[in-house]
Amino acid sequence: MKKSDLDKVKIKQIPAQKRTNPFANVFDEFVGFCRSRSMFMLHYCTGCGAIELPPAMTSRFDMERLGIQPMVSPRQADILLITGYVSIKTLKRVILTYEQMAAPKYVIGICSCTVNGGMYWQSYATAKKLDEYFPVDLYIAGCMPRPEAVIEGLQQLMQKIKANEANSWKQYYKNYDYFLGNQQHLFGNNWQTPTDVIGEAETYQLAGPNTLGEHTKILQSVQTPLKPLEMKL
Ligand code: SF4
Repeated sequence: MKKSDLDKVKIKQIPAQKRTNPFANVFDEFVGFCRSRSMFMLHYCTGCGAIELPPAMTSRFDMERLGIQPMVSPRQADILLITGYVSIKTLKRVILTYEQMAAPKYVIGICSCTVNGGMYWQSYATAKKLDEYFPVDLYIAGCMPRPEAVIEGLQQLMQKIKANEANSWKQYYKNYDYFLGNQQHLFGNNWQTPTDVIGEAETYQLAGPNTLGEHTKILQSVQTPLKPLEMKL
């Protein structure tokens, strides 16, 4: 695609909203506090690091005392835990899961394999840097990190949420073209998920100059409309 074609893409400008209510910041702090003390965690067990989660959850380290509990569905989860190396095949499912979660959502990469590929850095079949495909709020490095480190990482995320600083989920909408480009590089130009990320970006008023671009054009050219599932008895 030529650069001149890209220049024709219209970017919707959203005017900045002024906050007039003097209690707005107090309310934000209260919401941040409540969010940080009630987190549902979807643990997508992708690698060996998952083995540290049972002790972190159960009686010895007891992460539920912090208000964190496991959740089985991405629709109700706040945190996506990636617990080790991610194969390219698995990454597709991880991205789909991430997109199914409602905002605000937070991602924690556990294990060195999520930071830079770890001991699989030379493998053709694994994704190396998780944050090239979707935003990551926090990494807990180690091969594998102990439950104390997992709890410490979760507490750091709680502090970030409380301070309203855990905003990486917004980057997925603001820089969607970048993330989509990396995904297409790995999965091919026909890559698509059933999620309308561009529509969501507009709904959240997070569409910016980097939401659309060369890669979203490719997506829109190959995207097929979703068909309703038919149930036959
Ligand atoms: S960092 Fe080590 S323990 Fe964690 S997924 Fe990679 S190889 Fe396994």
